[in-house]
Amino acid sequence: MRHPADGEAWKDFDRMYPDFAADPRNVRLGLATDGFNPFGVLDQTHSTWPVVVFPYNLPPWKCMKKEYMMLTLLIGEDPGKSIDVYLRPLVDELKDLWENGVRTYDKYTGQMFTMRAAVMWTVNDFPAYAMVSGWMTKGYMACPICKENVTSSWHARKVCYLGHRRWLPWDNEWRQNDKAFHGIKETRPRPREWSGDEILDQLNLLEFGHFGKKVSKPRRSTHLNWTHKSMLFELPYWSKLKLRHNLDVMHIEKNVFDTLVGTILDIEGKTKDTIETRLDLERMGIRSSLWMKRVDSTMKKGHPFFTVKPNGKKEFFNFISSVKFPDGYASNISRCVNVRGCKFSNIKSHDCHVILQRLLPVGIRHLLPLDVVKPIVLLSRFFSQLTARCLRKSDVKQLQDDIVNVLCKFEQIFPPAFFTSMIHVMIHLPDEALLAGPVNCRWMYPIERYLGELKKCVRNRAKPEGSLVEAWVAYESLTFCAMYLQDVETAFNRPQRNNDGGVRKEKLSVFAQIARPFGDPVKGESFTKKDMEVAHWFVLNNCDEALPYLEEHEQLMKQEHPSHLYAKKHRDLFPSWFHAHMKKLKELNSPSYDEELYNLARGPLYVELFSGCHVNGVKFLGATRDDKLSTQNSGVHVPGAGDSEDIDFYGKLTSVVQLLYKDRYQVILFKCLWFDTNPHNRTSVKRDHGLLSVNTTRHWYDEDPYILATMAKQIFYLDDPKAGNGWKVVLKIDRRGLYDIPELDHDDNVADQQLSSSIELGEETLWDTNIVQEPFDVPGVPEFEISIDLGDLPQYNAPEQANEDEDEWESGNNSSEDSESYYCSSDED
Ligand SMILES: [Zn+2]
Repeated sequence: MRHPADGEAWKDFDRMYPDFAADPRNVRLGLATDGFNPFGVLDQTHSTWPVVVFPYNLPPWKCMKKEYMMLTLLIGEDPGKSIDVYLRPLVDELKDLWENGVRTYDKYTGQMFTMRAAVMWTVNDFPAYAMVSGWMTKGYMACPICKENVTSSWHARKVCYLGHRRWLPWDNEWRQNDKAFHGIKETRPRPREWSGDEILDQLNLLEFGHFGKKVSKPRRSTHLNWTHKSMLFELPYWSKLKLRHNLDVMHIEKNVFDTLVGTILDIEGKTKDTIETRLDLERMGIRSSLWMKRVDSTMKKGHPFFTVKPNGKKEFFNFISSVKFPDGYASNISRCVNVRGCKFSNIKSHDCHVILQRLLPVGIRHLLPLDVVKPIVLLSRFFSQLTARCLRKSDVKQLQDDIVNVLCKFEQIFPPAFFTSMIHVMIHLPDEALLAGPVNCRWMYPIERYLGELKKCVRNRAKPEGSLVEAWVAYESLTFCAMYLQDVETAFNRPQRNNDGGVRKEKLSVFAQIARPFGDPVKGESFTKKDMEVAHWFVLNNCDEALPYLEEHEQLMKQEHPSHLYAKKHRDLFPSWFHAHMKKLKELNSPSYDEELYNLARGPLYVELFSGCHVNGVKFLGATRDDKLSTQNSGVHVPGAGDSEDIDFYGKLTSVVQLLYKDRYQVILFKCLWFDTNPHNRTSVKRDHGLLSVNTTRHWYDEDPYILATMAKQIFYLDDPKAGNGWKVVLKIDRRGLYDIPELDHDDNVADQQLSSSIELGEETLWDTNIVQEPFDVPGVPEFEISIDLGDLPQYNAPEQANEDEDEWESGNNSSEDSESYYCSSDED
């Protein structure tokens, strides 16, 4: 699945409304809204809520780009549940677009046609989800998917959402295991799903008060968490949609990161392992090892087994601050780490995204017990697979099983207070991915970036909305016109970051490489004659057009020389033989003569060395220059094309070599230092938790250091804190903005059958691990001490309704802070 059209929801819509689906010019829209503060820090209370729609009739790399988004409404205040008042004109228009359509000119066919439009779903963070859907996302029934069936309970002054064993198969042993799970067996099925029609019927039975912030009527219990009937139900197709509202993976991931990392690193203010939590465990009568210890009149909070020890914590932050990413991959992560204070500062959602998926497994592998590490590594892989640009249905089904296992394992590890609504809703993400396809077409990152752009347009602080609209109308019209301008630079034809120079006119494969070296060229005096010969031999061997000649010459040598000598003779004599052969073809005016091949055979005339190169849309830099920068662009990976076993090559770029031939032909080579990755050598490669670590002190192929520039794939190295000095963990990256669209579109179902999940089940299974709940004894570290009267355990009379004013829904309150980072830092890996 690469596009929402590959998801079940889209296909179901097509089946339901064949006349709409028949014309691909009918537009499918997504709808998003979120608030931002146009004044920055000057006025904390004001917020502006744009409502944006964006078409999905575009290839995935254009979906949700700001050029194709339409600003439909601008609400000058936080609309709350009264959002429908503002949505009225939009919904009227959408109704008209569905029922009657508009007459539109089709430039391609030169005819008029009736264009219709439908909203496929909305994209919102959790608080805005509540406004748009009408289901309040707070309190005991916060989950908008499980609705009243969610398992929630009151722990440590918070509503917590447990009961993830309900998603396990009936015969799963964890269902019967009451000891590990708070003393309860699980016999309930997973919560039922509600169709749109059922929800509509339910809503039609309920009566809601008038709109308006001032009108507050106590909700009756019959209303569950419904606050109003969403106006979008007026759209005739709305109740038929399989997915009406998307859970926003961006904010969920950020909140999961905060909760998880805050707890395992014991970060003040973020950890869920508080004194209240411990007292709660005692009240429940479970996990006695975590109870507060009573000594005389004081209580001590022991060090829990799921938290990194203080010296490990320092090591972890040191590790994070040492990380360097390739250019354009993520922001400089070391700036959001405070090593001395052992905490994160100014951390943005995208940083959390990168740390959770890439750095966390590497950094904590050796700092926590294996039972705790395994589910965390699996969670990290869950997010990294879920947020991939291309999903396989079989993998998503595997992710569904994985997340259930991870959450059940977490229930055995962490105290109930850990399970916020954001932790719970992870369980619904794979289902939504099956319905609606890849996450990157329906999450908040593009919207937050869009809000950042809007915020920049506010010039008149007295009338923020007015000045914003004026600027944006100009922007949208100019962007629209720019689509039809050819000979000026516009947002649509501007060269991309890391421009590699585009397609070349040469025909010979090695000359036609698309690569652009940069930096001041150095004449290759240090490049000896021997180096030149090695490079030339490499080029000849990697030029497809020269292969027949190589084979011919090898056969000749086999006939003329004994078997132990012919290979050397072949290598020594081929270049001159090839040159002579080409010369002869030229003189004979042979039809197989080729000008470019002749120039290649004459050998390179001279050499220029560069420090860097743009190739495959990626920037590479030689290691000596790279080491001085805060980014890392020297990691090179060449996937194995071996015969018997595939050995992947990992190394560092040392210099970019440009061989120049007669008539200005050129070949660009990367000279690299290769790390010994012989899989049989245990002192050079290690694998654990699916991570590959190489020993960078051991090298091989020193005699054969070249590759063609286009062969290089970029990777980056992380210090391996577990294996120690000299060891580096290898992480691969996907090129930004690159989509692997197959030339022939295979049927998805066919493709699915031959795929196996990339999750190594054998390695990551969570079943056989038992949690040892012994607290660590940390010598020299004073345990947390607090004086509490021993009789004073909290009374657990859970209130009827959770306090709704308590704004602990961490998702929304920092959105303006977030949006600021999205347009200036580079997102999307
Ligand atoms: Zn749920």
